Amino acid sequence: MRDMEGRVAIVTGGAGGIGSATARRFAERGVRVVVADRDEAGAKRIADEIRGSGGEAEAVYVDVTDEASVNALVDAAVKRFGRLDIMFNNAGVFGDGARNFLDDPADEYFRVVSINQHGVFYGMRAAARAMRDAGGGGVIINTASIYAFIADRHQLPYHASKAAVVAMTKAAALDLARYNIRVVAVAPGMVNTGLVDNWRQDERVWNTIQRAHMRRRMAEPDDVARVVVFLASDDARFINGHAICVDDGALSFKR
Ligand code: NAD
Repeated sequence: MRDMEGRVAIVTGGAGGIGSATARRFAERGVRVVVADRDEAGAKRIADEIRGSGGEAEAVYVDVTDEASVNALVDAAVKRFGRLDIMFNNAGVFGDGARNFLDDPADEYFRVVSINQHGVFYGMRAAARAMRDAGGGGVIINTASIYAFIADRHQLPYHASKAAVVAMTKAAALDLARYNIRVVAVAPGMVNTGLVDNWRQDERVWNTIQRAHMRRRMAEPDDVARVVVFLASDDARFINGHAICVDDGALSFKR
């Protein structure tokens, strides 16, 4: 199904699990994809793979903590493909989770917030300006987490950043409505990507994570990618300002 043929999307964190799965799904629908990441080699690998399967893709370096770098990414996308229809602000990191926040250096808080929260802020601004200047219309999708709504031990910076993503999604949707730009978020539960590598080795912890989902398995990246592509499509044209949980009900039952 190539119903989104000709549209242009930027995927930040495009070298990672959720980002690369989404870039592939966009390409299948005919979307031209800019795969953006600070992992340049990884981004190039994904863009090459998409081109190898007949899609259109370009890899671009970005550090989402740097506004100039994010602005340059959007400029590069518009220069390469002539327009921007979809911005997926997805790059992110987990907190190191090593200590109670009382004992953590403040640096750890600022590290996580500058990527997960400020990165989304810069991404929304740069993309929305390009969309507005081109006459309006477009979709911005931000990656939040169910950790925007519930707490886990020793992850205060991550919770702060993802709750901010949900709040910014609502605020931006309201401000950008006049330009016919929708802003939505996905809030995944646990997803089988490099982000959860810390827990892979400990079988007990790994099984506990699976059981946190109603059907006792964490998501694969493609489970999230399919929802992102739906949200970017015209089928979701009346969904705006919400965070959609993609968590197999993890938030909805008492464990
Ligand atoms: P991942 O580690 O596979 O991918 C994250 C990507 O972001 C990596 O390619 C990394 O290089 C990139 N990145 C990190 N910092 C960056 C920066 N400053 N500039 C540019 N790129 C940067 O992990 P993932 O699970 O695919 O994570 C994608 C998003 O999903 C993140 O925002 C994460 O918080 C969120 N999320 C993940 C899970 C999970 O369980 N995996 C759950 C909920 C939300």
